Amino acid sequence: MNIKRGTIYLLVLIVTIMTCGWSDMDDHFQIPAEDSLKFRELYRIENQKVKPVISYEDESKRKQVALTFDDGPHPKNTQLILDILKKHQANATFFVLGNRVNLYPDTLKKIYEEGHEIGNHSWTHTNFTSIGLDGIRQEVTHTNTAIQEILGYKPQLVRPPYGAVDETVQGAAKLPLILWSVDSLDWKLRSSSAIVQEVLSNVSNGSIVLMHDIHSATPEAVDAIISNMKKKGYHFVTVSQLLKLEDGQIGAVSGQLIYSK
Ligand SMILES: [Zn+2]
Repeated sequence: MNIKRGTIYLLVLIVTIMTCGWSDMDDHFQIPAEDSLKFRELYRIENQKVKPVISYEDESKRKQVALTFDDGPHPKNTQLILDILKKHQANATFFVLGNRVNLYPDTLKKIYEEGHEIGNHSWTHTNFTSIGLDGIRQEVTHTNTAIQEILGYKPQLVRPPYGAVDETVQGAAKLPLILWSVDSLDWKLRSSSAIVQEVLSNVSNGSIVLMHDIHSATPEAVDAIISNMKKKGYHFVTVSQLLKLEDGQIGAVSGQLIYSK
């Protein structure tokens, strides 16, 4: 189960937190904000019973983190984030929803063309632990097919909605399940300065940071976070770059839950 020399190793167990907020999403989502938040908090508490086992090692000792953005593409906020990333010459990973890629194909293309990684965040943002093996495979496959039709590229990483994972989800996944080690809480805080503070007080070398490109407070926070961390010597890379999953190493971690550090 060695991914590649000196890389990340992750035997991970269950999930912690939840993704996504709903109240300032623009459209196309049916889940009421209050229900979603309630579910998220419940899920987080339940899963604190199980601690992840993680190790991270990078021979280069280069300080790097992976910023990740879920639930897009969003016609306005994704673009704002792309401009900020370009300004800082930073890379990131966008876990997109299948039901949004055909609505905003140009935004999807721009993410890809500007050198960022695109991951699969399901088609409908449903909780994978409640839809069974076939349902999970359908959500993942449908989304990857839609992305491939637009980009000619098939995502290699899956982020399960809400970070909700059980043995069925792990069994169904043909790709690594990428969770996170730092939650920006942008889905809850909705204030750029609060998001910045939350991330900067928790981030460290090797972190995978959860954010969302659908919330209006997130772009400004991203700009401040990158500016601050660049001064401390950090580099911003994609998840595959951080985990050294390029060069055909994906199979080694298929179905595993990955947090990084
Ligand atoms: Zn999400």
